[in-house]
Amino acid sequence: MSAQIISGKEVAAEIRAALREEVTQLKEQGIHPGLAVILIGDDPASHSYVKGKEKACQEIGIYSEVIRREASITQEELLKMIEGYNKNPNIHGILVQLPLPKHISEKAVIDAISPEKDVDGFTPVNVGNMLIGDECYLPCTPHGIIELIKRSGREMEGKHAVVIGRSNIVGKPVAMLLLQENATVTIAHSRTQDLASITRQADILVVAVGRAELIRAEHVKPGAVVIDVGVNRNEVGKLVGDVHFESVKDVASFLTPVPGGVGPMTITMLMKNTVDAAKKLARTMQKQ
Ligand code: NAP
Repeated sequence: MSAQIISGKEVAAEIRAALREEVTQLKEQGIHPGLAVILIGDDPASHSYVKGKEKACQEIGIYSEVIRREASITQEELLKMIEGYNKNPNIHGILVQLPLPKHISEKAVIDAISPEKDVDGFTPVNVGNMLIGDECYLPCTPHGIIELIKRSGREMEGKHAVVIGRSNIVGKPVAMLLLQENATVTIAHSRTQDLASITRQADILVVAVGRAELIRAEHVKPGAVVIDVGVNRNEVGKLVGDVHFESVKDVASFLTPVPGGVGPMTITMLMKNTVDAAKKLARTMQKQ
């Protein structure tokens, strides 16, 4: 069997085209979605992610402000900056690129973002609303994964989904969203014993570990849908996922590539959340 490759790039392009049209129409009504992206320090991967977000804003017609500051910025200065954007009517979404320098508390920074502008879906209010299935901004990578599975025509209801990884930004929320799609969900992590015996039960396997090519053919049930979230450099510096693509493609029925799988969906869901935030603010203003 050779897996069908789920192109996140193509699915993302479709969603972005629809968003571009929506933004054109919103602008005609005087609504101009705006995103502020705050980047602290000089981590090359973070700079590259932020460039991708800036480019996507341009493509869709979203106004963007990218604020780049040295790693020496104090937590107080950063919190003040966020407070300014919380009040700025031209900005509907605020994103602080993680990771932050060690002297700054990520929790304090995330907590400072107004939940109405938390287009990353990381604040406790949005996480709580997601958990109870209420209206919220869904975190971008998990939301992108669910959209990819849906748009590739795969059923989630009644399937056994195994998520490897339990981070707050990927593993836990994607498990919750799979549960809301009526999958039966198992979460595995670094203390899980006999990982392969669990992953081999998965109809849907989501891998968010951060270990280059950890998951190989022997971990995968024949015909499974495999979503590779990982972004790693292998020993020769090549960009690879958490899944060993060459061996798993002969066992899985659907597989996402790295690059070009989950990554483009993450940025696209950020754009969607920003457009939704602008629409929501406009509705609130109309009611007042
Ligand atoms: P993370 O915070 O480092 O979490 C990794 C998780 O994997 C942890 O829960 C850890 O378990 C588990 N783990 C580590 N080694 C394991 C092993 N040998 N067996 C089973 N579980 C193991 O990472 P993350 O932020 O979730 O990101 C995961 C990967 O996705 C990274 O490669 C990251 O770059 C990538 N990523 C991609 C996107 C995208 O848009 N494409 C977005 C976000 C992240 P413990 O909890 O027990 O430590």
